[in-house]
Amino acid sequence: MSMFDLSGRVAIVTGGNGGIGLAMAEAIAGAGASIMLAGRNAKKADAALTQIRGRGAKAMFHETDVADAQACKALVETTAKTFGRVDILVNNAGTTVRRQPQDLAVEDWHKVIETNLTGAFVCAQAAYPHMLKAGGGKVINIGSMLSIFGAAYAVAYGASKGGIVQMTKSLAVAWAKDNIQVNAVLPGWIDTDLTRQARQEVAGLHERVLARTPAQRWGSPSDFAGIALFLASKASDFVTGTAIPIDGGYSSLG
Ligand code: NDP
Repeated sequence: MSMFDLSGRVAIVTGGNGGIGLAMAEAIAGAGASIMLAGRNAKKADAALTQIRGRGAKAMFHETDVADAQACKALVETTAKTFGRVDILVNNAGTTVRRQPQDLAVEDWHKVIETNLTGAFVCAQAAYPHMLKAGGGKVINIGSMLSIFGAAYAVAYGASKGGIVQMTKSLAVAWAKDNIQVNAVLPGWIDTDLTRQARQEVAGLHERVLARTPAQRWGSPSDFAGIALFLASKASDFVTGTAIPIDGGYSSLG
């Protein structure tokens, strides 16, 4: 049996109805797991479900605002009821509000932190007893280059994504004894809805990213299939607490 085989496993992917999350969900589904997608936009989810089911996998969508702790708990419990277990959690849902720090409303600060960081924590906390029952599990948290670097327009986003890395380490240390591995993935600049909007709002961004990325291209969601499969499968059973850049060399350039 392949060390990447996920037959009989159940994965939750927040924000799995588009972009990087959908590519990760497809990769995990392709290895045999059943998938619960979570997000707010049910229409976008319909297309995503068709794509995933096209790979022969079972897939459902649970409408969830991850900034709402009760909704995160309901997502996990519904997944366990629907599919019988929870083995893999991909905390991918993310948002940003682009403003200079002096102009950012505290409401927007809370919205970004609650979506990107608190939501990931609550989902992981809710998934823990189910992973324990299953004899182990995998948590994959999505950070950013702003887990490492600063940006003038992203104070809350950077705080949330820096927090993701430190939260990943604490969860990894706490749950290693339970055979639960917790890792973070740090995307470079990837062509998705999120960055399409950024490219419209930030003049010259497209060219700056190309010039700064050693691979000389934007990433695509499909660049996340391999790391999703690795971190979701037995192949990574002794890998925990890491933060792995998937960035075409962006974070290595001095
Ligand atoms: P997308 O905008 O395509 O995907 C973000 C997803 O998050 C959407 O599917 C959205 O679904 C979901 N989402 C947003 N807010 C909420 C919420 N409150 N509750 C539930 N779901 C929510 O962008 P990406 O694929 O680019 O982003 C995926 C992750 O990767 C994010 O965490 C992002 O920060 C991170 N990232 C992306 C980079 C890039 O270059 N693209 C770079 C670095 C990090 P819905 O609309 O249905 O709510």
